Amino acid sequence: MPIPGIRGFKDILPEEAKRWQHIEKVARDVFRCFGFKEIRIPILEKTELFARSIGETTDIVEKEMYTFVDRSGESLTLRPEATASILRAFIEHGLYAQDKIQKLYTIGPMFRHERPQKGRYRQFHQINAEAIGLDSPTIDAELMTMAMHILSALGISGVELQINSLGCSHCRPQFRQDLQSFLGTRQAGLCPDCQRRTVSNPLRVLDCKVERCRAALEGMPSLSEYLCPDCKTHLHAVERQIQLFGVPYIINPLMVRGLDYYTRTTFEITSLALGAQSAVAAGGRYDGLIKELGGPELSGMGFAIGMERLSLLIGDLQKIEEEPILFVAAMGEKACVIAARIAHRLRLAGIQAEIDYEGHSLKSQMRRAGKIGASLVLIVGDDELARNSITMRDMKSSRQWAVDFNNDIEALVLCIGEEMGRFV
Ligand code: ATP
Ligand code: MG
Repeated sequence: MPIPGIRGFKDILPEEAKRWQHIEKVARDVFRCFGFKEIRIPILEKTELFARSIGETTDIVEKEMYTFVDRSGESLTLRPEATASILRAFIEHGLYAQDKIQKLYTIGPMFRHERPQKGRYRQFHQINAEAIGLDSPTIDAELMTMAMHILSALGISGVELQINSLGCSHCRPQFRQDLQSFLGTRQAGLCPDCQRRTVSNPLRVLDCKVERCRAALEGMPSLSEYLCPDCKTHLHAVERQIQLFGVPYIINPLMVRGLDYYTRTTFEITSLALGAQSAVAAGGRYDGLIKELGGPELSGMGFAIGMERLSLLIGDLQKIEEEPILFVAAMGEKACVIAARIAHRLRLAGIQAEIDYEGHSLKSQMRRAGKIGASLVLIVGDDELARNSITMRDMKSSRQWAVDFNNDIEALVLCIGEEMGRFV
């Protein structure tokens, strides 16, 4: 009996992997233009890193982490998100000593033990960006614009940028207290999770997806009325800047995020095309977090884009440009040797070249060339070689012509390169 993969862990098969490569290429290009450098971080961290950063009473830490004790008795966790690890690395390597401003990105898998469904997996992938050491509202606007730009560069439209401010350590405590009192009067209408959250983490109730909890929030205190003057000024400046960048957005005062470390600006990019799992990207500012993790007093802002949801949104929307393929068909012993040499030389020159390995008939080789989508076929036969000639066939037009071949592979490769619009 074959052994199946694990529930919620998805294989990305070659056809889809092509789309993923395209996504990564576009994202890396955008990051370069916005001055973001890549950082690669491990997949495992000490459990306490996530507990301290994301927050003990968040869904992620309470019930979604893949945590285990390793052979040396240490509690480790497969990263459920990237920000904590990036900040850990930033602090551990003293990156701030070189430059307190660090714009970093990473692309890779995250792990959360959630209920698998469309757009929700247990291993999923994120494109993650963090801008550290900047307080300016301009960077908030820049990050949101950059996330939107990645989507539009991938040809995705119909998304909505939703912004909110979660306040800061000065103004949020009062809101939290008043919200808690309010929720106290609505207990009967809340789901059991939210009844628990009322005590442990009342802001999380705003994020609950259960319909009756949404209804129970009717008449709740509004966070925007609690923002202190500094937070208000910050939010207005972010709005002004994002308007200057010409990116449409809406303010969603109900939006909170699933992680405790956010302060002030938070945002989500949603698409109706995604159904219930509507958020394709999300992020926000985390001003106290670096200090909390034992680093210097620097602020930060970041976001993550979910790659599975991106891939869903792209679908067949965009034809990803196919690389041209050349097939070298060979008939006869000598011809096979030459075909392999030609293919090898072309591969070294950056052209995808395929050959037949099993001595198939010419007809069957031509069928295979068609199947793999070759645009050009080179037909090499012992008889033709004896006449210093080989045949080239354009698969699209079926045009076929003879090419002189005086055992000069270099000249032939140049000729093929020209035919394929490639510089070899
Ligand atoms: P959601 O509300 O969808 O649970 P979240 O608030 O937990 O998202 P974040 O932790 O902010 O999400 O992660 C950012 C992005 O990562 C999400 O917008 C989504 O696109 C993607 N993402 C999060 N969890 C998953 C998952 N389990 N499977 C696939 N993608 C995910
Ligand atoms: Mg979630």
